[in-house]
Amino acid sequence: MLGYWAGTSLFYLFSIALFWSGVEHAGLSRDAARLLTLVGLAGMAVSYSMLRLSSRLGIAPWKLAIGQALYALTCNVALYTVTGPIRGAALMVLLVVIVFCTFSLSPRQTTALFGVTVVSLGATMLWMVARDPVTYPPAIELLHFSLAFISLAAVTALTTVMTRLRKRLSRQKHELQEALLTIRKLATVDELTALANRRHMNEVLSAEEKRVNATNGVVCIALLDIDLFKSVNDRFGHACGDQVLRSFADAARQELRSADVLARWGGEEFLLLLPDTALAEAHLVLQRMAQRFRESSIPGIDERVRITFSAGVVERRIGEPFSETISRADHAMYRAKSGGRDRILTAESA
Ligand code: GH3
Ligand code: MG
Ligand code: MG
Repeated sequence: MLGYWAGTSLFYLFSIALFWSGVEHAGLSRDAARLLTLVGLAGMAVSYSMLRLSSRLGIAPWKLAIGQALYALTCNVALYTVTGPIRGAALMVLLVVIVFCTFSLSPRQTTALFGVTVVSLGATMLWMVARDPVTYPPAIELLHFSLAFISLAAVTALTTVMTRLRKRLSRQKHELQEALLTIRKLATVDELTALANRRHMNEVLSAEEKRVNATNGVVCIALLDIDLFKSVNDRFGHACGDQVLRSFADAARQELRSADVLARWGGEEFLLLLPDTALAEAHLVLQRMAQRFRESSIPGIDERVRITFSAGVVERRIGEPFSETISRADHAMYRAKSGGRDRILTAESA
């Protein structure tokens, strides 16, 4: 907005300078030049202050634009009465004002501005013809008016089209941003549980692998699998099975710390990454998850039926590829299964 203001001010200053040159070389009125200078500078100062204060006073940009446009149009129409033989050229500035409004006004507002301009210009011309028909011959004024009318109408129509185009572009940009967000979400989040999906987890793992290789940090990996899930589906139905997966995710999520990432790795199998965590601490996190899951009531499932999970948790060895760490966690988990389920085994204890 301040950039536009600077541009407009330059325009005012240039017009004032031109008028003063008209005083020297084309016999324009010195009093009118003084008045124009005063009015121009005052307009610049007022519009600058309004711009600066607009957000504090809650003035919408389009109101500022209308104010500035009406001021500029009034000055311009007034200029027509004091520019004598070069008054026809002064009409060109009206077009600049209308074009300028494209940035802030709606097509309807620009059209209204066009109406105000045409009416005030026509009235001013009639007044000049009535007052001084020798200097302002009716035929010349009619020519001036007709040319101004058709030019202003064309520019108004074009700016209207441009405004619509600009609006459509900005709407399309917004829609594209929304679509991008959706796509990003679809690509990274599991639909059922809202946990990270396997694809995203693979990205997280390779980033984490690079990080720990650089820092020699400690990191744990756990694999978790719901116990006897097939029989849950068989007994309560697939929809209830889905609800169990959601409830598991909700319970587990509450025990995650900000850096931990839990992903749905397969059907009822989950992979947990615990950065900067030693094995004992990781084991505790899993125990808390198990406790919370055991205590959570699952819609559609009999309160007496307790659904559990088995997990294997391992600490990554220095330099070990993550695929190897995951494989060790997998072994620990299957030992937990074969040991009777509902338990968390570490690589050491497995
Ligand atoms: P275990 O304790 O050995 O893990 O036994 P389990 O029954 O959990 O293991 P199994 O691999 O035999 O069965 C897994 C079941 O999980 C089979 C499959 O139908 C079910 N399942 C996988 N994905 C979904 C899902 O998205 N929704 C539901 N409701 N069931 C699923
Ligand atoms: Mg299972
Ligand atoms: Mg399984």
